[in-house]
Amino acid sequence: MRPTGKLHLGNYMGALHNWVRLQAEYDCFFFIADLHALTTDYADPGRIAQNDLDIALDFLSAGLDPGRCVIFRQSDVLEHAQLFTLFSMFTPLGWLERVPTYKDQQAQLAEKDLNTYGFLGYPLLQSADILLYKPDFVPVGADQVAHVELTREVARRFNGLYPGEFFLSPEAKPWELPSIQEKARKLAGEPKTSTRTDFSAAQLYEAAQQTKKLSPFGRREILPEPQVLLTPSPKLPGLDGRKMSKSYNNHLMLSEPEESLRAKIKTMVTDPARVRRDDKGDPDKCPVGDLHKVFSSEETLAKVYDGCRTASIGCIECKSWCADAIVRRLEPIQEHRRDLEKRPDVVRDVLANGKERAQKRARATLVEVQHVMGLG
Ligand code: SF4
Repeated sequence: MRPTGKLHLGNYMGALHNWVRLQAEYDCFFFIADLHALTTDYADPGRIAQNDLDIALDFLSAGLDPGRCVIFRQSDVLEHAQLFTLFSMFTPLGWLERVPTYKDQQAQLAEKDLNTYGFLGYPLLQSADILLYKPDFVPVGADQVAHVELTREVARRFNGLYPGEFFLSPEAKPWELPSIQEKARKLAGEPKTSTRTDFSAAQLYEAAQQTKKLSPFGRREILPEPQVLLTPSPKLPGLDGRKMSKSYNNHLMLSEPEESLRAKIKTMVTDPARVRRDDKGDPDKCPVGDLHKVFSSEETLAKVYDGCRTASIGCIECKSWCADAIVRRLEPIQEHRRDLEKRPDVVRDVLANGKERAQKRARATLVEVQHVMGLG
């Protein structure tokens, strides 16, 4: 999660809410991506440190539990930047230029000069962020799948260039070995009379590939390709009906005080068909309807559909039900946050402990990568 300030409801429903569930099922690593924040905010870094702490507070108050997952700050674990540098040696520029969000974001943030190496490289930094931990899965919404695909391509290219460790598998069929050794002799340019058998596992693996007799060999890749774990990311509109986003300034914060939350929801756009009180509308064409679908009970939702379609309720009333549902959902989170705000040491300790645990895992991967890339 990039530290661009306190999290909003879109961040919560699209990611954090899922993470809280995942920490019970998986060995999870969650981090505050402050290096990523610099890719767009390099000229104005003044708030990054405070934003880091705000996001950590949001993580904890929403239910991430440092006893069940690792929470850390990206820049605390130097291995992220180191692996990014190593990946940048072999990643073709074209792979980065064709990432769909590259051009989109440049256009969206036209006021910033994003013609920088760091901005072009941010998907590669993401690949380093992911592969350092050799994960089985990366939890993402449907719109992030392309980023994980790039990570898988980077892993594939790395594993192709630096093949890792080969081993004779327990299911090896001894009668296949002589023909594989013969192929290995040919590949090594041995004379026809040679009876050499002392080939490395990598040489035998290559020969086995060519004879299509791979069964005797296994290969332990250094960077396994992670899979996507698609998590629900419900449509969450902002106050103006566009996707909720800080850059559109149409968001509701996870820590939004009740009074301000109610006032903002009152200003939300609605189904344009409901100009007058007795005009009938359709919650499926209304951003407030979308919020009801995420936060309201079945019972309230039924009242919204019926009342809107028959014009028996007004938008003001409907919006107040919507605000009630969101306030109810946020109440325990905000209470937890208020409690944590009184104890700033808790957040600092969580980040310090997370740094240590993340670094241990990251260091082990980096040592393997450096070794096969000729760096000791
Ligand atoms: S009644 Fe509710 S769902 Fe219908 S248009 Fe008004 S705010 Fe939207």
